[in-house]
Amino acid sequence: MTDLTKRYDVLVVGGGNAALCAAIAARRAGATVLVVEAAPKFYRGGNTRHTRNMRCAHDAATATLSGPYSEEEFWDDLLRVTGGDTNEELARHMIHLSKDMLHWIAAQGVRFQPSLGGTLSLGRTNSFFLGGGRSMLNALYLTAERLGVAVAYDAEVVDLDIADGFFTTATVRQGDAPHQVRAATMVAASGGFEANIEWLKQSWGPAADNFLIRGTPYNRGTVLKLLIDKGVDAIGDPTQCHAVAIDARAPKFDGGIITRLDCVVFGIVVNKHAQRFYDEGEDVWPKRYAIWGRLVAGQPDQIAYIVFDASSLKLFMPSLYPAIAAGSIAELAVKLTLDPVALEKTMAEFNAAVRPGTFDHTELDDCRTEGLTPPKTHWARRIETAPFYAYPVRPGITFTYLGTRVNRQARMIMQDGKPAANLFAAGEIMGGNVLGKGYAAGIGMTIGSVFGRIAGEEAAAHARN
Ligand SMILES: Cc1cc2nc3c(=O)[nH]c(=O)nc-3n(C[C@H](O)[C@H](O)[C@H](O)COP(=O)(O)OP(=O)(O)OC[C@H]3O[C@@H](n4cnc5c(N)ncnc54)[C@H](O)[C@@H]3O)c2cc1C
Repeated sequence: MTDLTKRYDVLVVGGGNAALCAAIAARRAGATVLVVEAAPKFYRGGNTRHTRNMRCAHDAATATLSGPYSEEEFWDDLLRVTGGDTNEELARHMIHLSKDMLHWIAAQGVRFQPSLGGTLSLGRTNSFFLGGGRSMLNALYLTAERLGVAVAYDAEVVDLDIADGFFTTATVRQGDAPHQVRAATMVAASGGFEANIEWLKQSWGPAADNFLIRGTPYNRGTVLKLLIDKGVDAIGDPTQCHAVAIDARAPKFDGGIITRLDCVVFGIVVNKHAQRFYDEGEDVWPKRYAIWGRLVAGQPDQIAYIVFDASSLKLFMPSLYPAIAAGSIAELAVKLTLDPVALEKTMAEFNAAVRPGTFDHTELDDCRTEGLTPPKTHWARRIETAPFYAYPVRPGITFTYLGTRVNRQARMIMQDGKPAANLFAAGEIMGGNVLGKGYAAGIGMTIGSVFGRIAGEEAAAHARN
């Protein structure tokens, strides 16, 4: 059993990438470290378990990356996806340190592999973990344990003792017993609040009942809320999050990557009234996949249907669940519980508006509609070859952006503008400092690794003094 009675130099709350990077960095800097993870051991590692890659700047191609990705290009990408809603100083600092992260994380036992093929074309910019996020985590846990980091599972922080920005103890519930855990510093790495439907409802209203949470059920924002209530400054908009369209048949939590649907560009997307509501061919999928969760969230009952035909079935990676198939559009509508007349009308109008072009799903082709609202501006082909298929989709929330404000040392900033004495944050819980809105694939892990390392080193240095 992990000793929860001893006073540690650094208490790390959470058990994902940010927490492990912080714990290892603090331990390597000489601190005694306790990691408290709310999940049982089997489910340790939060959303990190589901990840596949991390975005880091690098000067040249490597054995697993197909070319260079400069700091400036990384910054340009971040600026574009956030529309400038980012803290430039922190973002540039993170991007600069991301360069060394590829080496640092490998030194902790994590191995990379060439990019997986698929829909997002990330072979130059993103490093893929050999064996995925779970394997990456297992390597980090092994290293942490070998270094002497203490880890407590089923150990949820339910209260914090903080006065004037000074942390003294955390109340950790393990089994039935609450423990008062003392430490010289605390690193909060406990994720966002995406698994807390009641909290999501405060911003989204009853619609949030229909959201599916792609990752861990343990990221309920308990620590985030405690910190804000105890004077830490919040950053970010509570409605901002990463949300994609996922198979509506996915489980409420933890469906992971295999429930994401990447076939929007190959068909049309209709709501429960069998009406189209957005340009399915607006831009290449890597630039658009992350808007579809929010688009579906804006539709009645937060449900939509991607409809396509036999000519597209083999052009994309399928979901875990098979597409719903039918011999005619009317029959498909019945299977989807849509009005057959309405779906046939929508389809007929779409097909009539399609202009001839040369279909090429790898680039912005010239296949488009004319005189249709909303238009489909690329990859528009008549949907007319039976069998017809559909996937029902719902908003799949990946993670929320509201977080704790931090400075370059990953030290939390209090509501009076002063840095906290001994409180640090890393990962999703402070992601809003860098991501005001939007997303660039792989940046969640960059935020966790870079700020996790900083937080661990700074917390250890503080504990030593
Ligand atoms: C399906 C999916 C795929 C993704 N793919 C990628 C990808 O390929 N690349 C990428 O960069 N990002 C990806 N992301 C986003 C990425 O998972 C996160 O940005 C990243 O894992 C966040 O790391 P973290 O350590 O901050 O949080 P997490 O890994 O979620 O860890 C949070 C931890 O805190 C624990 N915790 C929560 N509350 C408490 C409490 N009160 N007390 C104690 N412990 C607590 C949780 O149990 C968990 O262990 C993906 C997310 C999902 C859901």
